Amino acid sequence: RPVVAVVGRPNVGKSTLVNRIIGRRQAVVEDIPGVTRDRVPYDAQWNGREFTVVDTGGWEPDAKDRAAAIAAQAETAVVTADVVLFVVDAMVGSTDVDEAAVKMLRRSAKPVILVANKADNTTIEMEATSLWSLGLGEPFTVSALHGRGSGDLLDAIMAALPEAPKIVENRPRGPRRVALVGRPNVGKSSLLNRFSGEDRAVVDSVAGTTVDPVDSLVEIGGETWQLVDTAGLRKRVGRASGTEYYASLRTASAIEAAEVAVVLLDSSEVISEQDQRVLTMVVEAGRALVIAFNKWDLVDADRRYYLDKEIDRELRRIPWAIRLNLSAQTGRAVDKLAPALRKALASWETRIPTAQLNQWLTALVQATPHPVRGGRAPRILFATQAGVAPPRFVLFTTGPLDAGYQRFVERKLREEFGFEGSPIDISVRPRK
Ligand code: GDP
Repeated sequence: RPVVAVVGRPNVGKSTLVNRIIGRRQAVVEDIPGVTRDRVPYDAQWNGREFTVVDTGGWEPDAKDRAAAIAAQAETAVVTADVVLFVVDAMVGSTDVDEAAVKMLRRSAKPVILVANKADNTTIEMEATSLWSLGLGEPFTVSALHGRGSGDLLDAIMAALPEAPKIVENRPRGPRRVALVGRPNVGKSSLLNRFSGEDRAVVDSVAGTTVDPVDSLVEIGGETWQLVDTAGLRKRVGRASGTEYYASLRTASAIEAAEVAVVLLDSSEVISEQDQRVLTMVVEAGRALVIAFNKWDLVDADRRYYLDKEIDRELRRIPWAIRLNLSAQTGRAVDKLAPALRKALASWETRIPTAQLNQWLTALVQATPHPVRGGRAPRILFATQAGVAPPRFVLFTTGPLDAGYQRFVERKLREEFGFEGSPIDISVRPRK
């Protein structure tokens, strides 16, 4: 169960808000300045999602420095929480006590939702815009007493919660599925023969798995892999019937069926449009990617020089792909394939803990904020990883981000966490 902590000065209406969230009149004691209340967890749910709300009423009544006491209270709550609701009084505006608490909250990596309570009417709601100065983004104006704005707030809380943990891993145990693709004559069959030739061990079956008859189970680097749709590669006649159109359909379906694709390129020839199309298929299908420059035995110093330039130019959009220089003919670097596949798959299935992700993000946006556009700069409030295979991230923002800034975030995300060999997806959810 994820935990939502409600923090804020005494008398801002935290307990009323908690009542609103848990949806029933429970014996939540009203904030009375000077009264110590323990942190009590309450069960709540919204849209079928269960979570725990912790009402942090407790503070040190005798503390000389009240701001420090509130900060300490916030600190305790923040440690255990997945999401923090920071409640301020919309009628009062922000106070120095609020600002002290905010300092603390911002140092933590937890997502913080700013709630301006007691916004009973539109006038107060308008005034609440001054709370932007707290630096926590747009305030959620609510009236806990009357229920105004609480639905939107609950939606925001749900969005900020970490993903519900999966009960079962839904990936069937068995060999990892690899697509060996590339335009005709790049050496796909030759490479396949390296792994499944007469002199090599061809695995026929793996206990408990059924393999499509067009697939091959082969041993690469001491591990069994399922090479999808290799039937067409084995039988040269099978290829004769294939026009480019059908070959391309077949390539697309192999990529779709695979988890990781090895795109073979012919190092002795220029990177063609057809090569690019295959690469695009992999990227768009969201599969892990290893690019193998085959026929490396034909690459001399001259070709090497031009190839390097070509790679810079043609593969600029996929700098994250793992690259190998190999030769199906001589066997050069063929043993590098299995480690490359494993690495790409590991990246593809990486999950970054929410706290770690937001810690990194907070530092990033602090160091390099979004440029000001039309007098305003959208702020990234927090991020969550929405899924894996490939890793997908959602950025919650106060407005749409510049394409350039979004690319910057992606580049930095990769710099920090790697994802070598895997595409990643970042979507932006601006708060309405
Ligand atoms: P496919 O159409 O992608 O399956 O390509 P093939 O495996 O049929 O190979 C096409 C041609 O390239 C054949 O003549 C192979 O002998 C040759 N070939 C494949 N790999 C290499 C390599 O690493 N080096 C060289 N020099 N030739 C290769």
